[in-house]
Amino acid sequence: MKLERILPFARNLLELAVKPGDIAVDATVGNGHDTLFLANLVGPSGRIYGFDIQDEALMACKTKLREHDLQDQVTLFHTGHENITECIPPLHFGKVTGAIFNLGYLPGGDKNIVTVPETTIQAIDQLLEIMAPEGIIVIVIYHGHPEGKVEREYLLRYVKSLEQNIAHVLEYKFLNQKNNPPFIIAIEKR
Ligand code: SAM
Repeated sequence: MKLERILPFARNLLELAVKPGDIAVDATVGNGHDTLFLANLVGPSGRIYGFDIQDEALMACKTKLREHDLQDQVTLFHTGHENITECIPPLHFGKVTGAIFNLGYLPGGDKNIVTVPETTIQAIDQLLEIMAPEGIIVIVIYHGHPEGKVEREYLLRYVKSLEQNIAHVLEYKFLNQKNNPPFIIAIEKR
C-alpha cells in the first residue's frame, strides 16, 4: 500500500515539526513508544515533557527510556495532561514545537481508565497557548470502545470550531476500513 498508514503518518507529522534541541510533549505516555520517538527527535539538547495518570505507564516508559539511554532528555509527570501549563516551566512557553495524544486506554492495562473529552480539550487549549508558531499537535483517536466514540464526537466538534486564523486542522482517515480503525486529527498552530 502506498497510502501512508495512520501511525507512520502521525510520526511523519511529528518529524516535520520537531527538530534537535526542541521542546515537545507526549500528552499520553502509556507504554512510552511515542516518548521514546520524540526523545530521539529532540536529542540530548532538547526536552520532552510526558504526562500520564497511571504509575504503571510511567514505569514502563522509564524502563524503555533507560534501555535506550534517553532518560536525561525526558521529564515525566504523574498527572493529567490538563495540567500541562502548571507543569511545564514558563521558560519553555512559546517553544513547544510538537505534541502527541494517543487517546483511549493503556494497551495491556486497565480498559476502564481512558482519556476523556473534557480534559483532552483542556490540554489541547493549553498546548495551543504555549506552542511555537507552526508547532503541530497530533491526536490519534481510537473510537472502537464506547467512551472513544463519545470522545471522537466532542473532539471533532471542538477542532472544527477552532478559528482558522489560530490553527490549521487536518483529519486523516481511511474511509472504507472495518472495525473503527484509529484516525488522526492534526492541528498546526499559526
Ligand atoms: N502513546 C502510548 C504508547 O506509546 O504506549 C499509548 C497511550 S494509551 C492509548 C493512553 C494513555 O493515556 C493511558 O496510559 C492512560 O493512562 C493515559 N491517560 C488517560 N487520561 C489521561 C490524562 N488526563 N492525562 C494524561 N494521560 C492520560
